[in-house]
Amino acid sequence: MKLKKYIYRKNKVENWTEVFQNPCQVTVRSFQTGTVKINRKGTLNPDHPLAGDVQEEELEVPILVYWVRHKEKGDILLDAGLDASYITDPYGGLEGSSVDEFKLGEHKNIAYHIQDHGIELKTVFLSHLHADHAAGVRELPRDIPYIISKGEYDEYQPEVHGDFLEGLEELYEIDFSQATKIPPIGSSIDILGDGSLWTIWTPGHTPGHMSFLVNGMEGPVLLTMDAAFIHENLETGVAPGDYTWNVEMAQETLEKIIEFLREYPQVRVGPGHGTLKLSI
Ligand SMILES: [Zn+2]
Repeated sequence: MKLKKYIYRKNKVENWTEVFQNPCQVTVRSFQTGTVKINRKGTLNPDHPLAGDVQEEELEVPILVYWVRHKEKGDILLDAGLDASYITDPYGGLEGSSVDEFKLGEHKNIAYHIQDHGIELKTVFLSHLHADHAAGVRELPRDIPYIISKGEYDEYQPEVHGDFLEGLEELYEIDFSQATKIPPIGSSIDILGDGSLWTIWTPGHTPGHMSFLVNGMEGPVLLTMDAAFIHENLETGVAPGDYTWNVEMAQETLEKIIEFLREYPQVRVGPGHGTLKLSI
């Protein structure tokens, strides 16, 4: 795999008010590609003082992909969800004890959604490389750029993460080390260069995890991806304890997100496995 640097133009804004004052011709909608079962006790870190008495409980949550349509830059996906192989095999053809299990109905795979909506895919951004966010790459076009954050591919192990990136010749990496830190959420990059779509460095769930902000005419939308799994993470202020690379870092990241949402209550927020809602 050839890793290339994702080139972007630095936006000089210093705060989000300035960003939100200039909304863009960009829309976002979600597709559900199957479901995954998570445990409440892993989703809300039981060791956190605010967690209370978290009980073991299985939660079946949606696996989501976001479709961003930009007036000039065309159709973009944020994450790739699941491909059709999961319709007949909950492991998507992967083997091993650490392989995740998902449920996918017919006509729910990402390529189906793309065709169904007449999407002409130009670019795919992946928040991180977990199966429920990246497996769908297997049925997406090969001749478009795929973009992850720097550091994420270093952790990529085919025996755990699967063959999702197979056949791609190159991957673009976003380097957040030079990114503008916009308080309170931190390193943020205007990835299309016009203020319409931002990526925000939110490490913890994985080393290079990133979230997104869509600055459209209908108001700003923050897509936390797996920096918060469900709304309860945002409401309680407790980050996940399981499924997480660095629990402390994930907690710090979640707190920054919550601070951001409190400061900008007009922002609608979608956690990684939950629907969009007006702030917290
Ligand atoms: Zn994940």
